[in-house]
Formats: sequence, C-alpha cells, structure tokens
Amino acid sequence: MTESNPPGGPLARVRLAVIGIALLVLFIPFVSSFAGVDPQSVPEAGISAQAPAEPALLEPDPNAEWRRTGKTRSQLVIGIRLADTLTGLGFLAWLAFSGAAARFRSVLSALIRSQWLVRAISILLVTIAVTVASLPFDLARYAVSMSYGIGRQPLGAWLGDQAIGLAVTSASAVFLGQLFYSLLRRRPATWWRWVAGAGVPLSMLAVLLSPLYIELFNDFAPISNRAVAERILELAGRAGVPADEVFEIDMSRQTRAANAFVTGIGPTATIALGDTLLENFSEQETLFVMAHEMGHYVRNHLWIGLAVAVVTSAFGSWLLQRILDRILRRYHGRLGYTALADVASLPLILLVAGVLSLAGEPVSNTISRSMETDADRFALRLTVPEDVSPEAAASTFERLGQLALSDPSPNPIVRFVYWSHPTLDERVALVRETAGAAPAYRARPSGP
Ligand SMILES: [Zn+2]
Repeated sequence: MTESNPPGGPLARVRLAVIGIALLVLFIPFVSSFAGVDPQSVPEAGISAQAPAEPALLEPDPNAEWRRTGKTRSQLVIGIRLADTLTGLGFLAWLAFSGAAARFRSVLSALIRSQWLVRAISILLVTIAVTVASLPFDLARYAVSMSYGIGRQPLGAWLGDQAIGLAVTSASAVFLGQLFYSLLRRRPATWWRWVAGAGVPLSMLAVLLSPLYIELFNDFAPISNRAVAERILELAGRAGVPADEVFEIDMSRQTRAANAFVTGIGPTATIALGDTLLENFSEQETLFVMAHEMGHYVRNHLWIGLAVAVVTSAFGSWLLQRILDRILRRYHGRLGYTALADVASLPLILLVAGVLSLAGEPVSNTISRSMETDADRFALRLTVPEDVSPEAAASTFERLGQLALSDPSPNPIVRFVYWSHPTLDERVALVRETAGAAPAYRARPSGP
C-alpha cells in the first residue's frame, strides 16, 4: 500500500473502479503522454541527496560523462522493452493458436454453470497471466533504474505498487471485458463502431482522472514553497492558465525522477509538480519546465491528443474487426471456437490489438514530438529572457539529460519509433536558435 491516505467507504471504491475503467482504455499511454505528464521531458532525475539549494547552471558539454552513460542506459531500457513486447505477444499467440484458451474455457464451463462467471474468471486469469509474463522484464527495468541510481524505492514497496496496479487493472479488465463480450454477442458485426464511439467519453474520463490515479500511489498537496507557487501562478496568469493553486506530488518516495503537469478539461486547470523537481532544479529551470507544461495546456495539446486518440481508436477498432474476422474465417473452427463472442477469443483479440497499437506507436510519437517542440517554443516565448535566461533554459535540458541518464542523441530509427519527445540535443539546439544567447558546445577545457 502507499502511505498516502486512502479514503475509505463506497465512494472510494466507486472512484477506484472508475479510474480502473479509464485506465483500461486502449489509448491510455497515448492520452497520458498528451495530458502533459512528461516522462521524457522531465524524466527520472538522478542527483545526490545533497543537491545545493540553487543548483548551478549546466553548460552544454559534448564530452560529458552522462552522455555515454545515458546512451547505454537508454539502450538497455529499450532492449528490455522490446523483449517484453515480443514475449507478451508470443505468449498471447501461443494461448490463441495452440487451442489452450479454448480448452481452458471448456474445462471452466464444465465446472461452472454461470457463463458470466466463466467469462469473469477467464478475463481475470488472462490479465494475471499477461502481467506475470511481463514481471521479469518489469523487474529488469527496476534493477536497471536502481543500479543507475535513479530508482529510490525498496523492492518491497515497489512490489506493493505493482500489486496495486494489478488489482486496479484486473478489476477494470473484468468489468470492461464483460461489457465488451456482451457487445460482441449483441452486435457481432458492428461492435467496432460502439467501441470507437466509447473512445470519446472514456478518453476524456482518463484525462480528468489522471490526477486521481496518481493519488493512488502518492500524496498530492498544495506546494509548501509559497514563493515558488507565487511565481508559477503569476506565470500561469500571463500564459492564460486558469489555476489558483500549485500542487506538489511526493514523487521522491519512488524515484529521483522529476515530473510536472498542467491538465484539466473545463473551467479550472490543475498545476502539479514533483517534489523532485523542486529539489533538483534551480528556480529559473523550474519556471521553464512549468512554462513548457503550461504550453501544452494553452496550445490545446490536450484536445488535439484526445482528437488523435479518438480517430486512432475508431480506425483501430475497424481494423481490429476486419483482421479478427479474417482470422476466424481462415482458421474456421480450428481455434476451438467460431464466434468472437466466445471468451476463448480473448488472447486472440489482445494479440491483434497489441500488434495494432505497436504499429501505431511511431505515429503517435511523431505527433507527440511535434507538440513537445511546440510547447518548448511556447515556454521560450513566455519566459525568455525576462524570467528565465537563455542559459538557464538550455541548462534545464542538460540537467534533464544528466539526471535522467537519457540518450541525448539516439539512433534515428529508435527516435522515430520510441521517442515521444525531441531528443535533448534537439531541444538545446532549439533554445540556441530561438533565444540566441545559449552557449554552443565548447571544446572540453584542458587541464584537470
Ligand atoms: Zn511536454
């Protein structure tokens, strides 16, 4: 469990269920990347606990040690991710095409009369099996993050968070899965239209609930440093972000990673930042990061992201339906079932949906990168040079790279497929082009 105060009572359970539903929406990773939660822009920060109160600016240095370490770490993480994806899809393919899923459903049906319960158990077990298949890779990611000094969470606490995540996912998977299969039974030919239509409200719900989801794992309280709060709110006023409070998230519980977001649909916006950002970044750098996040809000990236998610999900559902139909016809009966409405089809559906979302990833990342650059430009216009010096803006990205140990110049293919943000070198170059005064790379100083 987290140490945050979990509110009890039925309301809390309803909230948990709703959050779960929102999470399960296929495009969650997509929506959250647009919602301003910026895993790469303000990423896993690694800095010593004795960070100075006002860190000195970092100047671009092409020979900096972190650049090499960052490349190695990034390559490791991408390798693990690739292996994780392939293993997961391979496992689903085995379940789907070996007949294992159909045999398992037959055994369950012989034991249990209620078809509802057979479906619930099948969905639950597939969810758990997929999670367990992925666990070694999650552990490897955790080990990498700890060994590079980025992660801060003891193994027990980390496993506890994984268990909470699995509980939320399982509950929502059973709930959404039942809805999905009742749709497959009633609308065997046109179900994809209903899935596509549900994408709009579910995506919006996901955005609205993303701060609540964070609350499952962390505390969310008004920021204690009021001087910084005043400056951020003053910036928000100028940027046109309707907010009257800045929230602090105790991210340091899990990680050295820094993160921040500005989100909200409707009359008010939520501005939040990690305590890790306050700890490790100078005030100017913090303002620059917040201005970037405000850029996402003001430039309507949230709505663009939702629109993209809706269009993608509609197209994806249509494609999913066509592919699944074709597979069913081709393997007629050999899969152990003949209609998608049979819950034995779940591994096949997840497999095809997984391959489709994988194929869509470079597309969504390309759109995301262009919005990130747009938010960087917005932040530069809003803050440089009055609030933030060009050097501090460049230093923000240097620090992000140094603390996150992220690859500042990944291979172009890796960048195209996996990177939701421009590379750190590209972002520093943008500061240099736009603000002019940011220092260019200098030769490494001679001497010790
Ligand atoms: Zn961003």
